[in-house]
Amino acid sequence: MSDWAAQAAGDLFQSAPCGYLITKDDTTITAVNDTFLVWSGHAREQLIGRKLTALLPADDRALYITYCQPLLAMTGAVNEIALDILNYSGEQRAALLTANRSHGTTTGEPVVRVVILGSYEQQFHERALLAAGRAAATSPTGRADAETRLTHLAQHDPMTGLLNRVGLTALLHRLFLTPPIDRSRPALLFVDIDHFSSINNCLGHSAGDELIVVVAQRLRAALRHLSTLARPSGDEFVIVENVTDTAELIVLAERLLERVHVPVSIDGVDVMPSVSIGLAVAGPADTVNELFRNAETAMHRAKSAGRNTWQLHDPLTLDPTVDRLRIIDELREGIGRGELQVHYQPRVDVATGRVHGAEALVRWQHPIRGLLTPDAFIDIAEKSGLIHELGARVLDDAIAQVTSWNRARANCPPLEIAVNLSARQLADPTMVDVVVDALSRHDLEPWLLTLEITETALMINPDEALRALTALRALGVVLAIDDFGTGYSSLTYLKRFPVQELKIDRSFVAGLGIDTGDTAIVASCIQLAHAVGIRAVAEGVETVAQQQALVALHCDLAQGYFLGRPVPPERFPVTGPTGVPGPAA
Ligand code: C2E
Ligand code: CA
Ligand code: CA
Repeated sequence: MSDWAAQAAGDLFQSAPCGYLITKDDTTITAVNDTFLVWSGHAREQLIGRKLTALLPADDRALYITYCQPLLAMTGAVNEIALDILNYSGEQRAALLTANRSHGTTTGEPVVRVVILGSYEQQFHERALLAAGRAAATSPTGRADAETRLTHLAQHDPMTGLLNRVGLTALLHRLFLTPPIDRSRPALLFVDIDHFSSINNCLGHSAGDELIVVVAQRLRAALRHLSTLARPSGDEFVIVENVTDTAELIVLAERLLERVHVPVSIDGVDVMPSVSIGLAVAGPADTVNELFRNAETAMHRAKSAGRNTWQLHDPLTLDPTVDRLRIIDELREGIGRGELQVHYQPRVDVATGRVHGAEALVRWQHPIRGLLTPDAFIDIAEKSGLIHELGARVLDDAIAQVTSWNRARANCPPLEIAVNLSARQLADPTMVDVVVDALSRHDLEPWLLTLEITETALMINPDEALRALTALRALGVVLAIDDFGTGYSSLTYLKRFPVQELKIDRSFVAGLGIDTGDTAIVASCIQLAHAVGIRAVAEGVETVAQQQALVALHCDLAQGYFLGRPVPPERFPVTGPTGVPGPAA
């Protein structure tokens, strides 16, 4: 890192409007900034040498140890975890914790950098106090400058001087709130450096830092003066543009690829940097999060396509042979004609191997195109509003089906049924009535119904989601977070929302037993669920080895092709065992 960057980082550490701590791997605190001292009331000498975990109440300490520490060790980062921190008088203060782990430049020992954000009001108050304290020694203009500098530091990355994630998010929200003056729409280019971790591992972290700075400079030089370039994290950059046509974006992406892909000497080694770029244009109903996610997904497609290339996310043109408006009409008619069917995938008790219940997965028996899976039409149903009718039908069918199975099972424990809810359904104020109606029509006990909501759906509007979930929970139904681990602030949501089930995303289950990172993540998710007293469900189990690993990890439920594919109701194994081994005999 250059001198100015080191100086800026030092400034940021002491005066940033958020608490900073540096700890060792075992959480022993080695440095702390003034803001944290003001916020917590602790004196510096009380904190240095003490463990960060000693500042957490018992349940948060357990969460830090079972979730944050393994994740830091495996991935080097945890983001925005909601925790309480004990202040000097032992009171709990709500905070958001973000941490990064890397190897210190001087010692080579791992260093964990922890950022603590207090709640908004607290922060505002304390920033004012801090500024007032400093102001005693400075002129009024000096104070204004200091405030501007603090804001600047909080929103910028000290290494490249670019906007950081906080700054980028603030900018995007402002952009989405501003009505367009022409036909242009916000668009993102999500840029990720190829093979960055190999360079970091082979040449060291300072070489990695240098490469980031070089790529940042090259990207900047290839952009128009007014374009925004941000570095939300690690080796990722985001460019914000306003475009009227996707062709403009593609031209820009091509230019960026060309400018970055020029040799550079780093630490005496010739490196040929390249990047993968995901492009996404905001649809009329898209939120900031959706746009961000679409661009990121497209970037991953560019990686899969061989790197040093771009991919465009555009649901309208994903399948150019299909006219979207026609599909909406067809779907509306299809729902009316009863072309939607529900298939059921067994959810199996990991310890015993018995079928515990089923997840309802919708299918569309299209008169010409055959049996379609949800990827082909859920997005269209959501955007057109047909999701409400579709969702209500799936819910009704699934509840009717499980009630009829349970009647046939008489003396066995009743099967449970899990149904997916989309973000739009969650935002619908009549959703609670739809669920109440369906339960009472078929006389199903509410605890036999699980509603699965993806982590991303919860993030679109967390306050609204919390209200909806609280109302649904009051009915006695079980709530599950689906695709857990794929969103940004998993633990925050788990603590905040009244959920009783955590479904570990199948992308992590895929690496179970093969990839140490995935294995550690699955293990921590299970421990985390158990630490907060809820059940863990693994999805996408495809091999006996994965199933055995889940038995050893004491996962509660599992589903996947190995245990049973989604099937029409008449082929569902209602009474028989799945034939799946439970714990080794
Ligand atoms: P999901 O909730 O994550 O559902 C699991 C998906 O993984 C299903 O895909 C299932 O067929 C697939 N799957 C199950 N086991 C395995 C496995 O071992 N390996 C692999 N590779 N895949 C497996 P499907 O049925 O295509 O559903 C896709 C998504 O569509 C679902 O993801 C869910 O988010 C959504 N969806 C399905 N039915 C409904 C519905 O009735 N309403 C709403 N709103 N969304 C639905
Ligand atoms: Ca699901
Ligand atoms: Ca899932």
